Formats: sequence, C-alpha cells, structure tokens
Amino acid sequence: MQALVKFAAGNGSMELREVPEPAPGPGEVKITVKAASICGSDLHIRRGDIGIPMRFPVIPGHEFAGIVAATGPGVAELQPGDRVTGENTRSSCGACPQCATGSYNLCRQRLATGYAFDGAFAPCVVVPALRVHRIPDKVDFRAAALTDPSACAYHAVQELTRIQAGDVVLITGPGPMGLFCLQYAKANGAMVILVGAPRDTHRLELGKQLGADYALSGDGAEAAIEMLTRGQGVDVVLECSGAEAAAQLGLKQIRREGRYTQIGIFGKPVRLDLDQVLYKEIRLIGSFSQKYIGWEKALELCALGKIQVAPLITHRFPLADWEKAFDLFERGEAVKVVFDF
Ligand SMILES: [Zn+2]
Ligand SMILES: [Zn+2]
Repeated sequence: MQALVKFAAGNGSMELREVPEPAPGPGEVKITVKAASICGSDLHIRRGDIGIPMRFPVIPGHEFAGIVAATGPGVAELQPGDRVTGENTRSSCGACPQCATGSYNLCRQRLATGYAFDGAFAPCVVVPALRVHRIPDKVDFRAAALTDPSACAYHAVQELTRIQAGDVVLITGPGPMGLFCLQYAKANGAMVILVGAPRDTHRLELGKQLGADYALSGDGAEAAIEMLTRGQGVDVVLECSGAEAAAQLGLKQIRREGRYTQIGIFGKPVRLDLDQVLYKEIRLIGSFSQKYIGWEKALELCALGKIQVAPLITHRFPLADWEKAFDLFERGEAVKVVFDF
C-alpha cells in the first residue's frame, strides 16, 4: 500500500512509499482509514523537532477514523465493519503509578501511534482494541478523525480546569485547540473572550460563529479585556497558542485566585513573570493529551451537536497531495486539513 513515511530524524525525510499492509496481532484491530487529519505535531515531525519519542521509519498520522477490517486473536468486542476511531496512546507500561490510576497519558514509557508505531497516513492502520472507540451514527468519518484534539480539549477544560457557569474565560490562540476549548467552555455556560494575532482574522471569525462572546486581536485586545472585566481580570485563562506573548497576556489579565491552564506547546524555554502566580495565588496547571473517558465524551458531545467539528475542517486533500496539504497547514491558512481515503 502507498503510505506517507518519515524515514529518518531531522528536517524533511518524508515521502510516499510502497509498504507492506500490516496484519493485526493479539489484541489488535486493523482499520481501513476513511479520514485522517494533520495535527500541529505532524508539522513538528516533518521538521524533526518533536519532543515525543519516535522510531524510524514510521508512518505518521494519529488523528483518524475508519472501518474495522480485521481483528486479531482475543478481540471479542469489535467486528469487521464497525465504524471506529482510535487514541494515539499505543502502549504504556501498565505498572507505574500513572498507569495504575488511569493517567496513562502521563506514563514515562508511553509510545504513540504515528510517532513510534505506524499511523494513519496510509490506507490502513493497526492499533490495540483497548484504545479503539465506536463512532456514533450521527458522526461522520471526517468529524470522528478530529476526536483526538476534541478529547484533548475535554481533558483540559472538563477534567483539569473545571469551568463553571458565569466564569469569564480568556482563550489565547484561535487554532483547532482554542476553537475546541471555546466550545467546551461555552457548553459550561462561560463567557468567552477569544484572542488571536492580527493574521488570525478567519479563525477569530470562526470562533465567533462557534460561540465566542468576543473575538479580539492586535493592540486593542488588552484594553478591551480590562474594560470587559472592569479591571478585575478573567476567572480562567486557557493558553492554547504556545506563544510567549500570549502566556504573558494571560498571567497579566487573570484575576486573583484565577485558574490558568497551559495547553499550547512552546517548544522552547520562555520568559514568564511567575511572581504573578504567587502575588495573585493563581492556580497554574498544564494539560497533556487525553484519556479514555475524554474520547467517549468528545464523540457523544459531537453526536449531540454540543461540540461542532465540521466547521473546523477547512481543507481536504488526497494523500497523494500531502506536501501541498502540509505546506498550506504550515502557512496557517487552514484550521484543519483532512486526508480523504
Ligand atoms: Zn493531534
Ligand atoms: Zn506507565
């Protein structure tokens, strides 16, 4: 089969190659891929500056949905023909304190599909049945392929930050993660101020369509936040951009005893005024990846129409045009790019 292969570390080293079709081992399922989306981390994989363990050669692609084609020995709960998506956690040790308490996303030995194991930028992918989730009838393959970022947002907003009705929430970064977090915050009854860079016009407009009460950019953003909160600051900051200036804005504009959650990846050390954390008694937390329940909830909420996924998919390509798709995504012209199979 034709698959996109990252064959060595470093910049580039990615091409379409003919590879053998995989077969499911014990406890595994083989899935015919119907849709797979490009994640920001796939751009890091192409550039060779990803912080997640990789093994080469490998097929990238960890956001996907498809149909079960075959099951390996010991898989009773899934049948060929089932519509499914799958988590990117491929293996974890199963014995450390994090694994033992269900936080396998934080296992030190966690290895992921699309990084250390072959992923879904290919006609089929093999994953453990344990990490597979059924797609509700009302959810199509393209939307289901985006369960990974939606479940990340669920983990950050619902499990870690715990937003309440009436909270004023500042979201920095109107990319896919910011637009998912926005929808979860709105589902909780929050007032949301979405902030982006001047080049984010289209994404901020989409944010307004998805429920943002205010979508701001540029120099006036800070004064507007101060006015909207009457100088008290926001209750919650969800930092989704991984940009130093955005994190600084969040620490400055958060109220005393506010909750700040870091979701965006900086990719390098940054300069932040952490004195703000103690003077204001800010509760600062980070959010990484997602867990089983987040996947189930993200799919249910998509089926219910509480979380809208389709508007985030701005471009579709066949896998043969992968370079065009990656370049477009890299330039920030798309929100989400999906490969159709
Ligand atoms: Zn992803
Ligand atoms: Zn572990």
